[in-house]
Amino acid sequence: MKKLIFSLAFLVTTFSQAQNNTCYWQQHVDYDMDVDMNVENYRYTGTQELVYTNNSPDTLTKVYYHMFFNAFQPGSEMDRRLQDIKDPDSRMVNNKGDRQNPDYESRIAKLSDDEIGYLRATSLTQDGKKVETEDQETILVVHLAEPILPGKSTTFKMEFEGQVPVQIRRSGRNNADGVALSMTQWYPKLAEYDFEGWHADPYIAREFHGVWGDFDVTINIDKDYLIGGTGVLQNPEEIGFGYEEEGTKVKRKGKKLAWNFKAEKVHDFAWAADPEFIHDKLETESGVTLHFLYKDDPKVTEAWKKIQPETAKLLAFFNEHIGPYPWPQYSVIQGGDGGMEYAMCTLITGGENYNSLLGTTAHEFAHSWFQQLLGTNESEHPWMDEGFTTYISGLAQKTIKENSGNPTAGSYRGYNYIATSGLEQPQTTHGDRYDINTAYSIAAYSKGAVFLAQLGYIIGQENLAKTLNRYYDEWKFKHPTPNDFIRVAEKVSGAELHWYLTDWTETTNQIDYAINSVEEAENGTKVTLERKGLMPMPVEVTVTLNDGSKKLYYMPLRMMRWEKPAKGDVERIVEEDWPWAYPTYELQIDTPKADIKSIEIDESQLMADVNRSNNTYGQVDSE
Ligand SMILES: [Zn+2]
Repeated sequence: MKKLIFSLAFLVTTFSQAQNNTCYWQQHVDYDMDVDMNVENYRYTGTQELVYTNNSPDTLTKVYYHMFFNAFQPGSEMDRRLQDIKDPDSRMVNNKGDRQNPDYESRIAKLSDDEIGYLRATSLTQDGKKVETEDQETILVVHLAEPILPGKSTTFKMEFEGQVPVQIRRSGRNNADGVALSMTQWYPKLAEYDFEGWHADPYIAREFHGVWGDFDVTINIDKDYLIGGTGVLQNPEEIGFGYEEEGTKVKRKGKKLAWNFKAEKVHDFAWAADPEFIHDKLETESGVTLHFLYKDDPKVTEAWKKIQPETAKLLAFFNEHIGPYPWPQYSVIQGGDGGMEYAMCTLITGGENYNSLLGTTAHEFAHSWFQQLLGTNESEHPWMDEGFTTYISGLAQKTIKENSGNPTAGSYRGYNYIATSGLEQPQTTHGDRYDINTAYSIAAYSKGAVFLAQLGYIIGQENLAKTLNRYYDEWKFKHPTPNDFIRVAEKVSGAELHWYLTDWTETTNQIDYAINSVEEAENGTKVTLERKGLMPMPVEVTVTLNDGSKKLYYMPLRMMRWEKPAKGDVERIVEEDWPWAYPTYELQIDTPKADIKSIEIDESQLMADVNRSNNTYGQVDSE
């Protein structure tokens, strides 16, 4: 009996552990911060009260804070990597050579003590007890005074001090556009602990992952500075600058103003400040207020005015094609060094080129869904936020500009370049671990966008559109993984799709289907097709006859156990499915060879075939 009881107990424990491993959970944070900024020397001090709730099934004895600004110091991991990578980010280096023979110098390595960035905790307690900490550059390791049990909350109180670095990347002072303060990655930020463990990634180059919660942030700054950022301003009548309701009398007191922002259910907090910002407000039909903050500079003001109604159209597009934007406001702010997404706001440089400003705004705004709301881990799965954003913002711009053409054509070209260059690494590579920046960018942005566009080829455009809506419904305010996304696509379409996720994202296997031969046969024509690449795909072949009529032959991929719904007015013939292991396939066409003008594999060009030169027979009209 004892033995039986033991094994029963063993079964119960393993069963409950198995449940813990598969159930979704996420931590929760509530930040209350008060910071004081010195605009003369770019130093700031702050207090932070952080209530941390452990929703994991695990007892925690350590936590980690990101101290991002410490990356902007000579000798940091970010500096070292910048010196070693073959194609460094041009914003972060000086080129002492020329374009042909570059000789890069890390800008971080050249920073003096009063130009570097830093962020230090000067005191830290947990529920009133002092904790031990270890500085590991951009990560602060905290050995807890008391373990945090599953389901319990604890309160950390920290005093911190920081210095805003000279603008190098994303954050900093006095960027190229002359914006005084781009305050992103600026506060001690608790690292995420989720179902995949701790994510205390050092800040080397790539992007972020965070814990959702509520932020209450007060920023004390010289009264001439105008702030835009995450959250809703709580005291507009004391601040003014266009935040107050029309007709309100603004009562400003003292040399500094205390700007109090509140933001709910976000995993980051960013802001920018400048004494020369213009602030415009636009109320949209959906009830979301759009704010625009940009320099009073005649070179850029026209473009910054012109993007305002377009941003409202983007909002309406994303609301419909992904799901409703859930926060009360969004701010498009001039700052940073290109474009970067943050909670309820973005920092974007430029404005001299309107199209580029609109393109960046569309991209960064789309990140409010694919990252801020559908919070994928940007370090581990960069293609899920960058690729999805590239895809949907391309579609949105095509719609609002009423352009025809494939908005992801550039992404297909980028993917084709890297796939055939020998430099490609799989998309499962950690964002920091790509050999060169180009391989990262193309894997994340281009190959990520092609992932979705090509999924439209595999399951049909209607199923893809439904997948995006359901992905939003099931995963908003959570951390979805690649598998979570493909499961939604499977449930929406009914097709088996795991092969697609595996081959496309975890390998560098390529798609290459070819027309090997076209021969006269007894009852028409025999077309021999070949799979030359390792990656499987369902295959569509368009046959155009001399009279201009078209027939579409569809060969389902056997491992999908599924057939794509027919669409459009072209006659479609569903053939026997194609089992992957067979390299060739004989397609019988009941038309004499002499009547055939051309044959083409994948006329839609949505299948990312690396060699399209073997996809055609005869004279194919190019559109
Ligand atoms: Zn992006």
